[in-house]
Amino acid sequence: MIIAVDGPAASGKGTIARALAKHYGLPHLDTGLLYRAVALTVVRNELNPDIEADCFAACDFDESVLADPELRTDEIGKIASIVSAHPLVRTALLHRQRRFANQPGGAVLDGRDIGTVIAPNADAKLFVKATPSIRAKRRHLELRQHGAVVSIDKVLADIRARDLRDSQRATAPLVLANDAALLDTSFLSIESGIQRAIELVEARTRVKTATS
Ligand code: C5P
Repeated sequence: MIIAVDGPAASGKGTIARALAKHYGLPHLDTGLLYRAVALTVVRNELNPDIEADCFAACDFDESVLADPELRTDEIGKIASIVSAHPLVRTALLHRQRRFANQPGGAVLDGRDIGTVIAPNADAKLFVKATPSIRAKRRHLELRQHGAVVSIDKVLADIRARDLRDSQRATAPLVLANDAALLDTSFLSIESGIQRAIELVEARTRVKTATS
């Protein structure tokens, strides 16, 4: 079974994807980490995130970068959303993600274009969303827990800028796939969000089984 989980930053899609993977005993790929690895490689090699050829060169990143804690910072997330708009970068990372999705037994992937581009044949597709102010509150809390000093207004502005870049880029923008189930986590606890996600996957796979 392939499960695609898409949504904007801090919507809860990562937590939900990890929980679904655990629930169904499937491997999980956080595809944002791949774009973040390109971004970190661009920064470390003093390349320019606005130049497509520079970012393409960084797609050949060292695998050890994927375990680097710096990958998770907001600064690298922001640069990731710049490098990810280049079509050459998306093509360079496409096969790795498709291979993961199509492995025997299936997988759970989360990102921005899983249901639309990477795994359009997924058995269940979820689009996880929450209001920008609630996402900013969550991200702000998370950053403070990690010792960062940043205002909530700045976090909200960054979230809005990232949403705009991710949803308006020409290649593989963040959009709701026609056949995705919408899950709004704005007013749900983590546990209720996970429970609802499992129910939606069950409903989708029941429909698929009944019609196949
Ligand atoms: O999900 P995360 O915040 O780690 O993703 C970082 C950035 O990588 C996103 O803002 C987005 O621009 C990009 N991304 C993407 N496609 C994906 C996953 C992430 O464009 N499938």
